[in-house]
Amino acid sequence: MAIEKKAISDMKKYIYLFDEYDEVMAALDQNWDGVRGLLGGKGANLLDATRLGIPVPPGFTVTTVGCNDYLAAGEQFPAHLWDQALEAVARLEGTTGKKFGSVENPLLVSCRSGARFSMPGMMDTILNIGLNDEIAAKLATRTHRPRFAYDLYRRLVQMFGGVVMGVPDEVFEAVITAQRRESNARNDAELDASAWKAVTLRFKEIIRTYTGKEFPTDPYEQLRQATEAVFRSWNGKRAIDYREAAGIDHDLGTAVNIQTMVFGNVGDDSATGVFMSRNATTGEPVLEGDYLINAQGEDVVAGTRTTLPILQLKTDMPQMYDQLEKIARRLEQHHRNMQDMEFTIEQGKLWLLQTRDGKRTAQAEVRIAVDMVDEGLISREEAVIRVKPDQVDFFLHPQLDPDALKDIQPIANGLNVSPGAAVGVIAFDPDLAQRWAKEEGKSVILVRPETRPDDVHGMLAAKGVVTSKGGRTSHAALVARQFGKPAVVGVEAIEIDLDNHLMRIGENLVIEEGEYLSIDGNNGLIYYADLPTVVPDINNPSLLKILSWADEFRKLGVRANADYPDDARRAREYGAQGIGLCRTEHMFFQEDRLPIVQRMIMATTPTERAEAISALLPMQRSDFEGLFRAMEGQPVIIRLLDPPLHEFLPSAHDLMLELTDLKLRMQHFSSLKEMDQALEEIRSKSEILQRVEALQESNPMLGTRGVRLGMLIPGLYKMQVRAIFEAASRCAAEGLDVRPEVMIPLVSHVGELDIMVGPLKEIAREVMDDHGVDIAYLIGTMIEIPRAALTAGEVARTAEFFSFGTNDLTQTTYGISRDDAETGFLVHYLQTRLLRDNPFTSIDPGGVGRLMQIAIKEGKMTRPDLEIGVCGEHGGDPKSIRLCHQIGVDYVSCSPFRVPIARLAAAHAALSVD
Ligand code: PEP
Ligand code: MG
Repeated sequence: MAIEKKAISDMKKYIYLFDEYDEVMAALDQNWDGVRGLLGGKGANLLDATRLGIPVPPGFTVTTVGCNDYLAAGEQFPAHLWDQALEAVARLEGTTGKKFGSVENPLLVSCRSGARFSMPGMMDTILNIGLNDEIAAKLATRTHRPRFAYDLYRRLVQMFGGVVMGVPDEVFEAVITAQRRESNARNDAELDASAWKAVTLRFKEIIRTYTGKEFPTDPYEQLRQATEAVFRSWNGKRAIDYREAAGIDHDLGTAVNIQTMVFGNVGDDSATGVFMSRNATTGEPVLEGDYLINAQGEDVVAGTRTTLPILQLKTDMPQMYDQLEKIARRLEQHHRNMQDMEFTIEQGKLWLLQTRDGKRTAQAEVRIAVDMVDEGLISREEAVIRVKPDQVDFFLHPQLDPDALKDIQPIANGLNVSPGAAVGVIAFDPDLAQRWAKEEGKSVILVRPETRPDDVHGMLAAKGVVTSKGGRTSHAALVARQFGKPAVVGVEAIEIDLDNHLMRIGENLVIEEGEYLSIDGNNGLIYYADLPTVVPDINNPSLLKILSWADEFRKLGVRANADYPDDARRAREYGAQGIGLCRTEHMFFQEDRLPIVQRMIMATTPTERAEAISALLPMQRSDFEGLFRAMEGQPVIIRLLDPPLHEFLPSAHDLMLELTDLKLRMQHFSSLKEMDQALEEIRSKSEILQRVEALQESNPMLGTRGVRLGMLIPGLYKMQVRAIFEAASRCAAEGLDVRPEVMIPLVSHVGELDIMVGPLKEIAREVMDDHGVDIAYLIGTMIEIPRAALTAGEVARTAEFFSFGTNDLTQTTYGISRDDAETGFLVHYLQTRLLRDNPFTSIDPGGVGRLMQIAIKEGKMTRPDLEIGVCGEHGGDPKSIRLCHQIGVDYVSCSPFRVPIARLAAAHAALSVD
């Protein structure tokens, strides 16, 4: 079958042997990335390892171009491909001294797919190609190992029948199970040669019956069909789905690797195993893995025999262990990354079958990155790039123990709005959650249809929060993120029955209050179980190093959204450079304050309102003082009140129910006194209901919020500014460096600012004069309405800084309600990929991003030193952070728990990492 040398040089080269490194590199102008594209990841790495002198069983790769030409020609081998394959087989015969298809001294090969990117959706491996009845029989007698020979043969027929001919593997497994029963064998290892021979015979019959075709006895036909099957698997449904999901191009094609078989199952001087060059869980620089003596590769992963830890090999076969260590180091040096490898030892000779970059935990990732910088393998920039921002989450929150998750299925899923795991007993009522947590020391999961400000005490007491409604910027999501409480919201499968203290999932599952639930805020999964958790450490030295390097590279500042001094302290500990948003309405969530705010909103006379406002002043002052102290020397942006009224008012529905109940109970009172009390209560509740109804708005999120409320109740913002400057002046009088920035929310017209700012500045001046201090401060605005963005040039005449409220800006630009976005049509848009990203998670570059660009450009034209920040939830999202970096934002602000993530993401943006 030899082909003329001249002819080869004229034809397209579809095949490269593992020892043709120089040829491949020359063909691709020394471009290693190109080599990976042509030979696939697996083929390229085997080529590379062979060049490094690592013992790799000889083999060759059929290129991805071969695959694409095959598919383009309607599933026909292109001219010369098969001839080149035959030539390559002949070269393997020369190297190994064996002969493909020979009865006396057969060469056996494996066939594996190998695309540019590892793709679990592709065809599996076929081992032992080259056997048939005659060759297997001879191998059995010649080696005096009949069991070995027939076990190899049945594996070939089973794998070939499955992956090439399409017989379901369950059928083959059923035959093996039946044979075990017949042979009284407890496991496969106890099946002897005649059992495997009988099994193989039956396999072939099954193939015939299922497919109407024979298992091919000609080894070349086996090789040909296996290669075609790999090519075709590129267009299999599983592979297409995987590529869709992973965003891999459909035109890359897959390569096929044909490799000489080596056997770890020819006696006690043989073994097979998998190992990593470092510990994949902790990152420690020691080999980690498993092996089996006298076994074939799949036995290690199949779990049918108990594997031995790789360290044991040091005792069992010290020389082999030594070689493994050297190979691991050599490959690490070369790839500058931790390696995941497969090996086989055949009668005392070690072979490396595969190597690739190893998958690892977040903890291992940071340790390995830092260690590799210390070892001189990679630069600091590369170490920072290697750690993905989301991996930092692992160090900030407890996680469900991965071992415990192996045996359990989730009962429902929702939106993963606040990361980390929480485990506890269910409370459907915030008061109960608080009582159980505070008085009885229980871990509690608060489960509600949705949350409101008067649920916050229960949320704070709980370990985690679940709601059946709501989206990423719902009240529950915002508050949970703010306080670092793991939360899953919008779990539509849950039907909560508050009256009977239970919840239903589907037809059959009823879960009662007090039962255990485990939630995973990283992926939105919920488990009906009391699962163990692992608690990582933010002060992990490797992580701290990565973050400090990130700080050196990033250009964006990172501030925190913090409402309380405790939050501010934590944010600073996590590396925040100031407060980018203090939502003052959150300061009124506490139980003793909420009624005063409600009184202030519902007041019917100026005196009533003035009283409520003055009652709030001392509370505000002490809160602000705490913030200034915690953030000494750093800017603190305090946003004047922006309460969506529906969140702060009692629910009209609840009031109505209470009134009905009171009226019904009137019949049962025995004393006149009780009756009088009830009448009084009915009168007062009716008045509140009337007021609530009068204040009710059809679209409260677009209603009397932010500066609009400030315009209607001028005393309110004045009180807040007085509180801010009294607090700041007290601190300044002690010599503290305070940097207040006053922010006015929901501005849509510069006129709103023009009316507001003058009187507020006067109050600031008056307070500072009273205290004998002079504090530099800024008054600025949020940009969260498209009109404000489009008229930014005018707005910047009065505003000294802009902070993009991208939650509202997304809501108002898209015209999607932020409260129920994730349960409505948006889900459909995302599922059908009309939208690639949820605009409430990642800033929509074409709409919201464009408005931001306009606002930045025009704002800076009016005021060149305009400070620009982002304080919506997007401030902690790596993709949005990248956009902010590109369009000239000065800083992002996010919840304290996302500050470390934002620091890393900002460095990635500066280092231009996708
Ligand atoms: C915003 O709208 O992005 C914002 C930060 O304000 P809030 O979420 O409080 O409306
Ligand atoms: Mg807003």
